[in-house]
Amino acid sequence: MKNIHRIGAMVSKRLSELGIFTAKDLLFYFPFRYDDLSHILPIKEAITAGGPARNATQSVAGGLVTIKCVVEMIESHRSPRRHKLFTEALVSDDSGKIKVIWFNQPFMARVLAPGDKVYFSGKINADFFGAEMINPVYEKISQSAAWKKEAIHTGRIVPIYPLTERLSQKQLRFLINLVLPFAREIVDPLPVNLRRNLNLLEIASALELIHFPKNQEQAEQAAKRFKFEELFYLQLENETSRLELKQENAPKIKFFETETREFVANLPFQLTGAQRKSAWEILTDLGAKKIVIARLDRAIQKKEMDSRVKPENDKSLVSPMNRLLNGDVGSGKTIVAALAIFNVLKNNFQAAFMAPTEILASQHFLTFSKLFKNLDVKICLLTRGFSQICEKGAIKRVSKKKILEGIKNGEIGLALGTHALIEEKIKFNHLALAIVDEQHRFGVKARAALRDRDGNPGLTPHFLSMTATPIPRTLSLIAYGDLDISLLNEMPKGRKLIVTKLVLPDFKADSYSFIRHEIKSGRQAFVICPLIDPSDKLGVRSVKEEFEKLKNEIFPEFKIEVLHGKMKSAEKNKIMDDFKSGETQILVSTTVVEVGVDVPNASLMIIEGAERFGLAQLHQLRGRVGRGEHQSYCLVFLESASGETSRRLKIFANTLNGFELAEYDLKFRGPGDVLGIRQSGLPTLKMARLDDIELLKTARDEAKKFVAEDPEFKKAPLLRRELEKRRGEKHLE
Ligand code: ADP
Ligand code: MG
Repeated sequence: MKNIHRIGAMVSKRLSELGIFTAKDLLFYFPFRYDDLSHILPIKEAITAGGPARNATQSVAGGLVTIKCVVEMIESHRSPRRHKLFTEALVSDDSGKIKVIWFNQPFMARVLAPGDKVYFSGKINADFFGAEMINPVYEKISQSAAWKKEAIHTGRIVPIYPLTERLSQKQLRFLINLVLPFAREIVDPLPVNLRRNLNLLEIASALELIHFPKNQEQAEQAAKRFKFEELFYLQLENETSRLELKQENAPKIKFFETETREFVANLPFQLTGAQRKSAWEILTDLGAKKIVIARLDRAIQKKEMDSRVKPENDKSLVSPMNRLLNGDVGSGKTIVAALAIFNVLKNNFQAAFMAPTEILASQHFLTFSKLFKNLDVKICLLTRGFSQICEKGAIKRVSKKKILEGIKNGEIGLALGTHALIEEKIKFNHLALAIVDEQHRFGVKARAALRDRDGNPGLTPHFLSMTATPIPRTLSLIAYGDLDISLLNEMPKGRKLIVTKLVLPDFKADSYSFIRHEIKSGRQAFVICPLIDPSDKLGVRSVKEEFEKLKNEIFPEFKIEVLHGKMKSAEKNKIMDDFKSGETQILVSTTVVEVGVDVPNASLMIIEGAERFGLAQLHQLRGRVGRGEHQSYCLVFLESASGETSRRLKIFANTLNGFELAEYDLKFRGPGDVLGIRQSGLPTLKMARLDDIELLKTARDEAKKFVAEDPEFKKAPLLRRELEKRRGEKHLE
């Protein structure tokens, strides 16, 4: 940076705080918005536009106006009482005069002098005593003419950049304007054809126009090019890694059609159309032919291939599946996974199933133990504090060591568990399918780790992710672009709609009598609180307080228990078991029951301190009821009916569809809320936004086309280099 003429050490240091080290970095430091200062008004009109008689010229955006005038006089004062510094000027044009005031900018009196011709852009305060322009930005007309024909700070659409301390918009704008001619030397990485077909600006023009557009359209044109470019790289990465994965080898899982039909016929319900379709997509992947495409990257390929089994003529190998099962709460994802596991077990291969909480892992363990009781396989549960094994429907506790052995020698067919499945030094004997439930809770690394558990270096297991939160399409294209997606967009038949009510403090007593009535007729209730322990500071409800209150004051006649994440495994299991069996009637819990927990007899979900939860999370909690034949209710206790939170909660109460809620969350709170905070692997978008859906689809289609035609990027070495660079950066993270 320093070797750019006119940039001193100080400025260069401040630029480096913004990540700007080279002229190129400066060029690619984009404004986050523009101020339209292009409408230059005569002073007289500017006063009306900014003053009380606003109606005439309401079009002045944000109250900002620009005037072109001559400085008549200018001087700094100290205000008599508060000793604040301010500078006052009187300026004029043909239409009139106006006072200009700057606070705490005494240098203004030094940079401007009577007789100077200047642009001022700022807000005007006008009342019946007169009008003044406050703290305007200025640009001397003679000075701007010397740099360039046009003004860059006023009298036009002005770029506004994200800044650091002690670096001003003006400085940055000045520097960018200075390096702008270098834009012509940058070779455009986007192929000409692509640009032409999609009507995208060439890089140099795009750079010029993103910084100094003449109008809003030009700014948008320029932004579109960079947005596309960003999304295109992402999708190219996805396509490349998809193709790379396809080159790897997974065991072929034969579809046991008759047996599968029989298994399905024995279920207590009929599968939904969406469940059938998803199961079919998965089973097809598991038994599909291997796709061998021209090698992508010889260096990478060679290293990995040499140690592996020769794939091309081996009929027992296929391309690994990499699929996401995307469905709303209660759409029945588990049984779809079960059909895949069933076939894997029938093929005498192993399957692994990882869940985010112990409660969920042991629930799945019970479900699968029942589902597969007629199969001749051992099923195990492995969490940090707990290990069990099930053989032909009979469950017993065994040591962790035994389980690790069983997994290693292949005796155990299906291993369920939490993170423990990847923390322990587990090696599978012949793992064919790795499943991650509620996968947004695990980072990318955890998923990759589960996939790596197979003891055979030449093989990659098939992989299935399942979501807790329904993921809007745009988000899934960005966050999971390298996965194929199966969509469960249909709920099992006969589900009653959950009635959701927002309850204000005055109506709490009524709610309690309603709850009493429901429990007396045999139902059960969850009561969710945000905290475990009471907290004075926050005034937020805790499970411990709530438990005492409900037990002693409100429902002394019922059996109530507490559940939270800090309890010991055995304790948690016991409490969950008692709730499942119906012995406990009310379960006071933190959000540990948020994901997956399935107790069909529970028909009441009571949420305390709902203000603290995101919509996706509330929807998950609500999804704990309405799972059986009973009419279910979600009662949301809140403190007040006004404000932003209650608006959000009203939307929650009126929307039962998880995809719709997720769209809403995405729009108003961002992807972090939809995917859960712990999500890693969501690329940061610099330019594009998640609601650029059309551009996103175009980018994906173009990337698919591109990689299919030229997987080695022979015709676009610059693109290839860009991707390698991005990949390198990712590895460093
Ligand atoms: P999620 O998609 O939230 O993981 P689950 O797989 O836990 O949902 O299923 C929710 C409940 O619905 C379970 O009790 C399950 O047995 C039941 N279920 C699944 N599929 C069907 C179906 N087709 N018809 C009726 N009930 C079903
Ligand atoms: Mg589930």
